[in-house]
Amino acid sequence: MRLENGKYWINDKIDPLDLVQTYGVPTYVYDTSIMKDHYDRLCSAFKGVRRLKINYACKALTNINIVRFFKNLGSGLDTVSIQEVLIGLKAGFDPHDIMYTPNGVSIEEFTKAKNLGVRINIDNLEILDQFGSLYSDHPVSIRINPHIMAGGNAKISVGHIDSKFGISIHQMDEVLEIIQKHEMRVEGVHMHTGSDILDVDVFSRAAQVLLNTAKKFKNLDFLDFGSGFKVPYKLGDVHTNIEYLGEKITAQFNEFIKEYGKDLELIFEPGKFLVSEAGYLLARVNVIKQSMTKVFAQLDSGQNHLLRPMFYDAFHKIINISNTDGPKKIYDVVGYICETDTFGVNREINEIHPNDILAFRNAGAYCFMMSSNYNSRFRPAEVLVHEGDHYLIRKRETMDDILRNQIEIKELKPLNLA
Ligand SMILES: *Cc1c(COP(=O)(O)O)cnc(C)c1O
Repeated sequence: MRLENGKYWINDKIDPLDLVQTYGVPTYVYDTSIMKDHYDRLCSAFKGVRRLKINYACKALTNINIVRFFKNLGSGLDTVSIQEVLIGLKAGFDPHDIMYTPNGVSIEEFTKAKNLGVRINIDNLEILDQFGSLYSDHPVSIRINPHIMAGGNAKISVGHIDSKFGISIHQMDEVLEIIQKHEMRVEGVHMHTGSDILDVDVFSRAAQVLLNTAKKFKNLDFLDFGSGFKVPYKLGDVHTNIEYLGEKITAQFNEFIKEYGKDLELIFEPGKFLVSEAGYLLARVNVIKQSMTKVFAQLDSGQNHLLRPMFYDAFHKIINISNTDGPKKIYDVVGYICETDTFGVNREINEIHPNDILAFRNAGAYCFMMSSNYNSRFRPAEVLVHEGDHYLIRKRETMDDILRNQIEIKELKPLNLA
């Protein structure tokens, strides 16, 4: 969103206040031009890799139009559930371009994924053994835990020693035993150390652990370095230096494949990096509440629409797009849910009046996806801004959606209180 002559613009042409008129609020808005910029930037940072593949990690934002947009860019897809696999197939992905990387699911779900023909990534010795005993002819990839502590937040750091994700690099002998027993083929080695990699050198160390582990497998086709690219949420935020990362990992990778003697594919699977900055949540101010110590701006939205500030302590920049040159004042921006759903504390924002529209930045990744019907409220609409046009890509919910799967037992007997 760019400020020009006292107005904000999305993708240079679209006035977000017009979108509010057309679609109402609260509404998520996604700008495809930003997704494309980020996709291109990643590709160009790794242009020195001959077989590069970007798998969009769709759990960040699975609206089918977004998934299809990435398919049309030439991306593959990273999925963590059978439902995401089905969305990917419906969006037109070739099964071979879909990686299935679940955690803690049953062998029945793996069977479904195998039958759909997608790439299988296993992060558990027990499942590896079961899968091998049933489908020894279907290649698999192994998700390792490199035991490199990474991540901005304990909840999203998945590469540390006690993490439930991945097979420990110290259990590779057991992996090899199972592989030999069932005569399975390992086509890939994978890691995903966690969201928010702050330091390229830490990532590079984890990458080296993966490369050292990969040497143990003789018939590989790809190496998957996962994701964790950190994006800036506010001015001055540390974010991953993609270009430096590209230089460093490309050198390591190319050195490895020379030794390995085969031109492997290098896969990354970013979610946040591709969509976070492309999204905005627009919401209306219901009331300004002056307490003894604070001024609260209370929105017609809450943790039911945007959970990250409450769940992860995430910072989302909030701007008043209805009043771009009013004096700055200090607000706590809060929701309408019967919980302490605080979006931001002591935020300096252009003076807010009731009915003003506030925009949250970085609302593309893990925002709509974590929304709920808590307090029996409707989830927001979603709008796509693409090539100067805008499209409704998800309707706002109605009372029918809230009641959809409820079964009303009309003849339920009254309690016998005798
Ligand atoms: C969530 C996830 C990703 C994407 O992580 P981001 O931080 O959004 O880039 C990639 N790979 C796997 C296996 C994941 O679970």
